[in-house]
Amino acid sequence: MRRKGKSNHQRGEHLAMAKREVRWERMFPDELEQAFQECPVVYFPYGLCEPHGPHNAVGLDGLKAYGIACEAARTHGGIVAPPDFWHIHELSGYAVWSYKNVGEVKRTWLTCLPPWQHFKNVCYHIRMADAIGFHAAILLTGHYGPNWRDLKRLVELVQPYVGARLYSLPDWEANQPGFDEDGRSGGDHAGKVETSLLWALYPECVDVSRLPNSSEVGTHFAMGKTAYLSNRLIGERMVRDEVRFLGQKAQELLEAYEKEQPKQRLQTFEQVERMWQEAVVPVLGEFETMQDLWPNQEPVPADSVWYANWRVPGLS
Ligand SMILES: [Zn+2]
Repeated sequence: MRRKGKSNHQRGEHLAMAKREVRWERMFPDELEQAFQECPVVYFPYGLCEPHGPHNAVGLDGLKAYGIACEAARTHGGIVAPPDFWHIHELSGYAVWSYKNVGEVKRTWLTCLPPWQHFKNVCYHIRMADAIGFHAAILLTGHYGPNWRDLKRLVELVQPYVGARLYSLPDWEANQPGFDEDGRSGGDHAGKVETSLLWALYPECVDVSRLPNSSEVGTHFAMGKTAYLSNRLIGERMVRDEVRFLGQKAQELLEAYEKEQPKQRLQTFEQVERMWQEAVVPVLGEFETMQDLWPNQEPVPADSVWYANWRVPGLS
């Protein structure tokens, strides 16, 4: 037996490569209707373009969330909304983190937004899910820092206005036991976990020949120190773990919808704007992504390229 053929076959089994289309933007209306009737679950993948070392495509976070959501929908049913590649960065603790881990680069290649813009967009995404009549929506962020805790808070705040049952998470929450069997490496930044996941999902977006020599000092465009340990097969196993977690979560949400039979629907733009004013604006200033400094962080020096957008502007 030819080795190459065998490994392709195994990979097909591992990652449910059955070609059923689940990506909303690539589906015909009849396919969308059928998928909706079979399983009224929608996934919203979030990420951005952000420094992830010299060996990963910059869109890692969004690609990872999108790829995992697609595998989950192919395996367990549901539809995957177009991924949102614009996410929170360049201000607050993200600027401090960047100063340390990216450094004084000429171009950041970020695709970022401030928190109030991102979370408003999320509200509009939820409106679309509810207006269509999905019973469940899973919001999956591949980008870390504390944005996922704010996203969970947002979901709590808006759930009373929404019929679809909502759940949000950073993908690492679904990555159990993670890279190491001891369960400690569910997530990292451009290290062995993220690199392995991207490698499994989109092999053309990882190139380990671009890794710097391990003795070379430097920030290496925010590369994780463990990137050298990346392993595509472990990446495939972690994808399967995340897919299993998401499938269970989707089932729980569908059951909750059946039980609660919610009557409310977020239908109009006006309702979204009113909900935003009523439920979100009063506490937006408490969001972690809205704090200039996170615990144990030092201010960004004024001569850094990360200084200009560091401080969260006052909103009135
Ligand atoms: Zn990442």
